[in-house]
Amino acid sequence: MAGIVVVFDFDKTIIECDSDNWVVDELGATDLFNELLPTMPWNSLMDRMMKELHSQGKTIEDIMEVLKRTPIHPRVVPAIKAAHALGCDLRILSDANLFFIETILKHLGLEEYFSEINTNPSYVDEEGRLRISPCCDFTQSPHGCSRCPPNMCKSVIIERIQASVSTDGKKRLIYLGDGSGDYCPSLKLKEGDFVMPRKNFPLYDLICKNPLLIKAEIHEWTDGEELEQILLNLINSISIEEHAQFLSADCKLQTISVEALPQALPVQQ
Ligand SMILES: [Mg+2]
Ligand SMILES: [Zn+2]
Repeated sequence: MAGIVVVFDFDKTIIECDSDNWVVDELGATDLFNELLPTMPWNSLMDRMMKELHSQGKTIEDIMEVLKRTPIHPRVVPAIKAAHALGCDLRILSDANLFFIETILKHLGLEEYFSEINTNPSYVDEEGRLRISPCCDFTQSPHGCSRCPPNMCKSVIIERIQASVSTDGKKRLIYLGDGSGDYCPSLKLKEGDFVMPRKNFPLYDLICKNPLLIKAEIHEWTDGEELEQILLNLINSISIEEHAQFLSADCKLQTISVEALPQALPVQQ
C-alpha cells in the first residue's frame, strides 16, 4: 500500500542535535571551528575540521564513538519503524554527510529503513582521515539558488524525487525538517503534500512569515513524541482517504462496510 514518500531531514529532526557540531564539540575542536567559520563555507570547513582532528591524533573510531552517543528522542526510532511498516517509502535529505548519517543509523538499527540517503558524500581516505565533499560541486555546476548554501539546495533533490515518484502514479510527500535549508524544498511541495516543520525552529519561523507560499498542508511538531503522533496520524488518514476513493470509484464495491477500511493505527500517548 501507501503511495506515500516521507522525506526526513536528519540533524535536529531525526537526531536531537546537529551532527557536525556534535562531533566538533565532543572532540574538543569548537574554538577552532568558530574561528574558521567566517572564512569558508560550512561544508568545506567540516572537511578541514576532519583534517585538523586527524592531525591531532583523533581516529575514525573516536569519531564513530562520538556519533554513537548522539542524542535522539526515544520515540523517533519507533516512529520511523512504524511508518516503514505502514508501507511508506522513507528517504533522508540532509546537509550532514554520509559517514555521520550511516554510522548513526546503523547504531540505531535503522540502516535498512531508508530507500535513499541524499547528503554530502564522504569517505575515509588511506590515511584514515574522513573526507567530506559538497553534494553539489559549486565550482563546476552551481545550483544557482541564492537561498541555500553553495554545497546543497535541497529543492534540487526534492524536484528529482518528485519527478521519479510521479512515474508510478500519484504519490503524496510528507517532508519533516527544522532548518532554514528545509524552507526551499518546502516551497516545492504540492497541494496534497504535507510539511512537518519543527515548532519554533528556523523552518517553522520562515513558513509562519508567509504561510500562503506553502501549498502543502502544515503540521508542526515540538519533539519526538509529537513527531511520532502527527506523522502516523497523517499516514493513517492518507491511507484511509485513498482507500475510500478507491472504493467509491468502483460502484460494485460500494456495499462494503466501513469495517473493511484499514483501521487507524493507535498512537501511543
Ligand atoms: Mg536539520
Ligand atoms: Zn535552494
